[in-house]
Amino acid sequence: MSQCYKRPAHWLQLRQFRKTNMHDVIIIGAGPAGLSTAFWCDELRLDTLVLEQAEQVGGQLHRVYNPIENYLGLKARNGQELLEHFTKDVDSADFDLWTQVDIESVDLKARRISLRSGEDLQSIAIVIAAGVRPRELGVPGEKEFIGKGMIESGARDRQLFAGKDVCVVGGGDAAVENALLLAEVCPTVTLVHRGKKLRARRELAERLQPNNCITVFTESVLTRILGAEEVEGVEIQRKEGLKPFQLAVRGVLIRIGVEPNTQLFRDQIETDEKGFITVNSQQETSVSMVFAVGDVSNPQAPTISSATGAGATAAKVIASRLNAR
Ligand code: NDP
Repeated sequence: MSQCYKRPAHWLQLRQFRKTNMHDVIIIGAGPAGLSTAFWCDELRLDTLVLEQAEQVGGQLHRVYNPIENYLGLKARNGQELLEHFTKDVDSADFDLWTQVDIESVDLKARRISLRSGEDLQSIAIVIAAGVRPRELGVPGEKEFIGKGMIESGARDRQLFAGKDVCVVGGGDAAVENALLLAEVCPTVTLVHRGKKLRARRELAERLQPNNCITVFTESVLTRILGAEEVEGVEIQRKEGLKPFQLAVRGVLIRIGVEPNTQLFRDQIETDEKGFITVNSQQETSVSMVFAVGDVSNPQAPTISSATGAGATAAKVIASRLNAR
């Protein structure tokens, strides 16, 4: 059942809730990109509806546990704190926002959206701001040990794992950053990376070398997470053909990138080989009046700043298209 986002009482008094199912713009996703698009659409007087699957707005901000220090003009202790700044503006803006929305199907060409709760929605423009989800490794133990030794975030969970040996999987910025954070409190950190060379930024990767408690296994894959009630070890295979070996650890953190949330739109829109939606410099997709913003369309620079900027671009382009009609 779709629910309306709880707004302050004064906001509800200011306007009547629209009953129409026709909108200028429907935005799918209420992370930083979707919220910024909606905020700008309101500024440009577009009749806007935001659909969010989760109970709360914010998207990936809920999973940022480290300080945000590179968003111009604002610093925040974590994603939650930045979201509080965003929602102050959202609460004072005039657009409809439905949370806990379960979308059944989307016809992008017709710009029609059907919800499982029965509503059919229609708009002149659709903005896809559906974000990304963490990629899963798909090995035995990964799901079974959630909350029993799987580490969600080095920044958030490191005190829980202080004094314990841990393993981190991945070779990008996220894996290396987490390995460095855990190494501050853990006696040993084993970093397992499938490639020959780490993909992480040089300044991060360089900090691994002088760190005595971090061991890096490249060209290696984690094949199993072991344990009875909780994580007790991992099985690692170094190079294909070699026999796997076991390593005793009490925590495992997996950071192997992200996957775009494009299941609803597959086969209707142009994507790259990894499924990220292809956009031009105006955030337009291959389908007329369908735009994409944020990480779902930007695998090169998935930052909060680019997400909010892309939202502003999409809203301005939509407004100019509607004015030209
Ligand atoms: P990346 O896509 O950058 O790296 C993913 C890593 O996981 C790659 O090394 C890849 O290996 C490996 N990998 C992918 N799939 C598998 C698999 N199935 N099994 C084993 N290994 C796999 O993702 P990140 O999560 O590190 O970062 C995402 C984005 O967030 C990046 O743009 C990054 O720059 C950004 N970020 C920035 C930070 C910062 O600036 N402080 C911190 C954290 C993230 P291979 O190299 O072989 O493909």
